[in-house]
Amino acid sequence: MKKIQMVDLQTQYFKIKSEVDNAVLNVMESAAFINGPEVKSFQTELENYLNVKHVIPCANGTDALQIALMALNLQEGDEVITADFTFAATVEVIHLLKLKSVLVDVDYDTFTMDTDKLRAAITPRTKAIIPVHLFGQCANMEAVLDIAKAHGLHVIEDNAQAIGADFLFSDGTSKKAGTMGTMGTTSFFPSKNLGCYGDGGAIFTEDDDLAYKLRGIVNHGMYERYYHDEVGVNSRLDSIQATVLRKKLPLLDGYNEARRKAADYYDEAFASNPNILTPKRAENSTHVFHQYTLRILNGKRNGLQQFLSEKEIPAMIYYPVALRKQKAYYQDSDPKDFQNTDKLLEQVISLPIHTELDEEQLKFITDAVLDFMK
Ligand SMILES: *Cc1c(COP(=O)(O)O)cnc(C)c1O
Repeated sequence: MKKIQMVDLQTQYFKIKSEVDNAVLNVMESAAFINGPEVKSFQTELENYLNVKHVIPCANGTDALQIALMALNLQEGDEVITADFTFAATVEVIHLLKLKSVLVDVDYDTFTMDTDKLRAAITPRTKAIIPVHLFGQCANMEAVLDIAKAHGLHVIEDNAQAIGADFLFSDGTSKKAGTMGTMGTTSFFPSKNLGCYGDGGAIFTEDDDLAYKLRGIVNHGMYERYYHDEVGVNSRLDSIQATVLRKKLPLLDGYNEARRKAADYYDEAFASNPNILTPKRAENSTHVFHQYTLRILNGKRNGLQQFLSEKEIPAMIYYPVALRKQKAYYQDSDPKDFQNTDKLLEQVISLPIHTELDEEQLKFITDAVLDFMK
C-alpha cells in the first residue's frame, strides 16, 4: 500500500506532470514572470468558472483578506465579526489593520458561524462580517446576507477552504462560494482544493468600483503609473503559479468529486458507531471536503490520534485552540457563549482527504479507526 498522507500532492502532480512542466517551461522562456499574460488568462478563466465579474489575483489568501478589508476604508476600532473556530489568518488581518475583532461561536454540526450569535454580536460600530466556509462547505449565507442587509454591513467571504462549492438559496438559485458577499477571498496554497506550487490567492467581487480599488491596493496604491493615491501593498500572483493554476482549474470539479467520494466511503464506514459523528452536509451547500472532520464523543480523540499515528496514518486536529484564547488576539469571554467551539476543540479530528486516496488506503484507515473505537 502507498504511504498514507494528509494530502498527496506528489501523486496528483505526476498525473499532470508533462502538461504542467511544459507550461512552466514556457513561462521561463517567455521571461514574463510578473503580470504576464498567464496571470491575465487565469484571472479570466476563474471569473468564468465562478461566474463572477472580477477576480483580482494576489500573493496569498491572508493578503486577500487583508486587502479586501483595506478596500472598505474602515476606521481604527471599527468592529468586524468572524468565527472563533477558524484558521488564524481570518482574525489576524483584522488586528493587523487595527480593527476590532468580534468572535462568535459556530454551529456544532456545520462548523460555520452561528447566525443567531452573529445577530446578537452586532453593535453600532460593526462594519463587516467575515463568514468562513470552513472545511469545504458554505456558511449559512442566506442568513448572513439578510443580517448584513438589515444592518448595512459588508460581507467578506473567507473562501480559502471551499472553492468550487455551491450555495443554494431558498428561491432555488445557486451561487459559487466566494461570490455572494461584497467580496470573497481565496488561497491557492498547495494543499487547498485549488492549489498552486507555491503561494497564491485572489479576491472576487461583482462591484466595479471595488475591483478598481482592489487592483490599486495590490499594486502599491498606484492607479496611474508612479502616482500613489493611497497606501497599498505589493501582493502579486506570479506567472509560474498562474500557469500551474490554469492547468489545474479545469480539473477542480473532478478533484472535488474525488474528495466527496472519499468522504462517502468514510461516512458509510463510520455510520453505525455511536461515538463517531461524521461531518454533517448542510442542506443549502454542496461540500468540497477540504477537510474530513469527525467528532469523537467518548473523550478518546487524543488516544485515537496517537493510535492512528502508530499505524502511520496521519490525522490532524483542526483547530486545537479557540482564536479568542490565542495570546495574539486574546479577549475576555463567557464560556456560555462559546459552547460549540469549546466542545469541538476537544472532539474534532481530521482524517486524510485528498484527490488520490484509493480504496485500499481508505479501508486501512477506517478499519484502524473502528478498531480503536469499538
Ligand atoms: C489557508 C487559509 C487562509 C490563508 O491562506 P494563505 O494562502 O495560507 O495565506 C485563510 N483562511 C482560511 C480559512 C484558510 O484555510
